[in-house]
Amino acid sequence: MIRRQLTEDIRQINQSTEGPKNRSFFLVFLFFSFFAFLYSVFLPLFSVLCYAQAWQELKGDHFIVYYEKQDERFAKDALRHSEHYYNDIASDLGYVRYSGFWQWDKRVKVFIYPSQDSFLKATGQPSWSVGNANYDTKQIMGFTGSDEFINSILAHEIAHLIFRDFVGFKGEVPLWLDEGVAQWQERPKRQLVKFFVRSLMKDGKLMKLKDLTAMDVRKVPGADEAKNFYIQAASLVGFMIEEHGPGKFADFCRQLRDGKSLDDALRFAYPAQMRDLGELEEKWLKYVSGIKVTVQRRSGDVMQTISYK
Ligand SMILES: [Zn+2]
Repeated sequence: MIRRQLTEDIRQINQSTEGPKNRSFFLVFLFFSFFAFLYSVFLPLFSVLCYAQAWQELKGDHFIVYYEKQDERFAKDALRHSEHYYNDIASDLGYVRYSGFWQWDKRVKVFIYPSQDSFLKATGQPSWSVGNANYDTKQIMGFTGSDEFINSILAHEIAHLIFRDFVGFKGEVPLWLDEGVAQWQERPKRQLVKFFVRSLMKDGKLMKLKDLTAMDVRKVPGADEAKNFYIQAASLVGFMIEEHGPGKFADFCRQLRDGKSLDDALRFAYPAQMRDLGELEEKWLKYVSGIKVTVQRRSGDVMQTISYK
């Protein structure tokens, strides 16, 4: 098809150009553009097709895992964890009745690349990345052998996907809510979130909820400020779910999905407890001040036990 179009172009140029100099210039130009075109269009397509030939697949109820033959054990582990996270997250967020969402042709695709290098090349992620998700295509990408992918990234990205499936992209959904939901689902981090948020309060570093809501963490230059954002976001969502239950949290999210403002959604879901952002902040601060948590931290060679009682 392309070759025929190219021949046609050359014929037309031959007819319209005068003199051999012009003609050979155009031919050389076309020759190089043709290969540049082939390179830019077909090379990425070719690499995807090459991978597609090598992929094996494992199908679960809500996920299909793609992997290369030698990574079967890791792929099975990834599928088992994904299905487990799916059920946990849906019930944590109060979305159980929507569990038919991801079945059959709507299953999420998880790609396990054979190395970090091939994962980075295929996704274009920065060199430190160990996982990635695409919400439009409902795909999650990682590479074989990464514990962090199995233990954290899968839960985090599945939580983002379930949350976005539920609330959509139209309503007034603050970033702290979206990231908080995903962070909170990395279960091993929950105790740390409690510890760090209590420490932020003790050090007078908690941000005002109004500022947190207006903040776009992707544009924050300081690492400390970004870290504080994630801790507070996870703690707020944890507070809403643990203290007031997944049912109310689902009601709150449903109101946002239907276009209500943050204050109106809060008033609807928590009419007796927190009727606007100010009251949410007030109740959450009270909860943080009462957190009792003990964590083990390594300081140099020494393990320290730190408690808030
Ligand atoms: Zn996230």
